[in-house]
Amino acid sequence: MEPNPVTTTDHEPLPDLTTQVQYLKGVGPRRAELLNRMDIRTATDLLFCFPRSYQDWSERVLLAELVEGQAASVCGVVEKIDLRPTGRGRSRLTVTIADGEERLHGNWFNQPYLKDRFEIDQPVMFSGTFQQRKGRWEISHPQVVHLASDEEPPAGQILPVYRLTEGINQYQMRRLVWQVVEEFTESLVETLPESFLEVHRLLPIHTALRQIHEPDDQASLAAARRRFVFQELLVLQLALAVRRAHRIQQSRAPALPGNGKIHARITRLFPFELTPDQLTAIEEIGADMAKEVPMNRLLQGDVGSGKTAVAEYALLQAVAHGCQAVLMAPTEILANQHARTLTRDLENSRVRIALLTGSLAAGQRAEVLTRIAAGEVDLVIGTHAVAQEDVVFARLGLVIIDEQHKFGVRQRAVLKQSGLDPHYLVMTATPIPRTIAMTLFGDLDISTIRQGPHQQVVHTYCESLERTEQWWDFFRKKLREGRQGYVVSPVVEQSEHHDLASVEACYEGLANGELSDFRLGLIHGRLPAREKDAIMQDFAEGKIQVLVATSVVEVGVDVPNATLMTIMSGQQFGLAQLHQLRGRVRRGKYPGYVCVFAEPANTEAEQRLEALVNMTDGFELAEVDFGLRGPGDLFGFRQHGMPPLHIADLTRDMDLLIEARAVAQEMVDADPGLAEPTLSRLRQMVLTRYGKVLDLGDVG
Ligand code: ADP
Ligand code: MG
Repeated sequence: MEPNPVTTTDHEPLPDLTTQVQYLKGVGPRRAELLNRMDIRTATDLLFCFPRSYQDWSERVLLAELVEGQAASVCGVVEKIDLRPTGRGRSRLTVTIADGEERLHGNWFNQPYLKDRFEIDQPVMFSGTFQQRKGRWEISHPQVVHLASDEEPPAGQILPVYRLTEGINQYQMRRLVWQVVEEFTESLVETLPESFLEVHRLLPIHTALRQIHEPDDQASLAAARRRFVFQELLVLQLALAVRRAHRIQQSRAPALPGNGKIHARITRLFPFELTPDQLTAIEEIGADMAKEVPMNRLLQGDVGSGKTAVAEYALLQAVAHGCQAVLMAPTEILANQHARTLTRDLENSRVRIALLTGSLAAGQRAEVLTRIAAGEVDLVIGTHAVAQEDVVFARLGLVIIDEQHKFGVRQRAVLKQSGLDPHYLVMTATPIPRTIAMTLFGDLDISTIRQGPHQQVVHTYCESLERTEQWWDFFRKKLREGRQGYVVSPVVEQSEHHDLASVEACYEGLANGELSDFRLGLIHGRLPAREKDAIMQDFAEGKIQVLVATSVVEVGVDVPNATLMTIMSGQQFGLAQLHQLRGRVRRGKYPGYVCVFAEPANTEAEQRLEALVNMTDGFELAEVDFGLRGPGDLFGFRQHGMPPLHIADLTRDMDLLIEARAVAQEMVDADPGLAEPTLSRLRQMVLTRYGKVLDLGDVG
């Protein structure tokens, strides 16, 4: 790329970066309106509107020059679109493109909807690895770029591809960004100190910006991208490090150390020996609770790994010091189950337990609140109802949040009391991929239970609907042997928008058909809490043999005798959910059996189900899931109220993430308020982006 021709002298002020897009050359009010729709308001917004991808025309070849097995890009005009069924709900889409006399066939399997993306006579580019079969050039699942008809690809260039909105095409967007890069780049002030760029081998901002929009070659593009990814991750990690430093410096919790006497008193209550992993977690939690800095720890362990006992231990350790402790669950079913477990274990102790859920009558609720405020309750078990304004604690020492992923990180701030802050422990059975643990949960310490108490075998099958008979034969056989089972459907209500069977239809069908000889129960989220609880209780006691349910049974429910799980419309569930459901039937003495009936609509759904069948380790599955969702998915970034990342891709930028995290920690250790003058721009970026969502207050 040529050096930027912008010349500036002392007399001539640099162009103003806050210039509204509407005043840019070639942008009138109408186009400005379109840009605003994409949140692009100023010249700066355009400078930092990073390409979504690139077209590498340098790899473009003519069809006549194709080499088998080599990656390349080929342009042509769509000549034929052919979608045909290949049996069992499967299909193949073939799009034929022509480049002069030559033909190329692009194939897609089981993605019939892609048909609508193509039009006859439309110019497109296919990229990937090409195969020659029976004298025909073919490619499976190529990457596709739809070309504007006026677009003649320049030879040997890497072109940026921007996100667009209706009314602006790729060509126009490119022109506009390039023009702004020419005119405004020099106005930008470097955000990172020069020495910092050197140490971390980062391109200066001006070079990086030009290369990200108009790369000279793949190497310069990679270097430019590296700079911005690093910066983005550094800002995030600085925010997390600052928050952590704040917490350590500013909040004080009661010190609640464990000791031998407490240990003996608590472990006596469990009907089993704690596993080594449980003991390690308990030790780590105990060490945190012994400090006056509030604990902020995540306990992760696969479904059935025994997190509840660890939680119970921690709760009782707090109570042993005369503090109150809270266990919060995402559903009433789960809160009730926890209450039952703890009430049973604490039958002969003086620990006073209260259950606080949304379904308490106003009078009962008022009474419980009075007792909590007066310190007459030691353990509060409940749902969101615990985190409401009017719940005031006398001396809260510990808060445990079960199945944390169902709540979101910000829930935590709400529990109220005057004086010291409580310790926090959050638990999850959906293991967090390492990258996410370091970003979203970057200021949490993590304990992991890898090995559960039962390690029960679980067999997983995935079947199409034609093979239900065999499964129900097996299901009935196991029921007759005394086991229990679930049938889960994702659909609460029948609808004309889809032909999936609702739980109610499922229940009716099974009760009058395949399972007419057995005692069935039906449970879903719309039932009144008391009814749900009664049904769960009947199921736990074996009065109900088969529970037909929506995914309300997904989290936490613990009935060890249930070993059969049937999942209907399995394609509707995410991988984590499916694995959670499977967790319901690997808890007891007997092996578990899961059968997923599914009609996967696309390759991603197919891969999800394949992963479920082939892997039983929740940690491995979490990584696969993360990979399948791809960089586009924010894995809860939005859900957690965090602004999405613009350029970093956590599935591929792991190394930079680790580096940025270490650097951020070092910087904050040395300068907790980021007060050093050379860091002022960086500090500003941290505050603008994360100040509010992470409650950073006024850093420094
Ligand atoms: P999760 O981690 O999914 O919350 P739970 O805490 O519900 O798992 O534990 C699953 C089952 O294992 C429960 O029935 C529980 O009583 C049992 N359990 C927990 N710890 C042990 C242990 N150390 N030995 C034997 N059984 C245990
Ligand atoms: Mg649990």
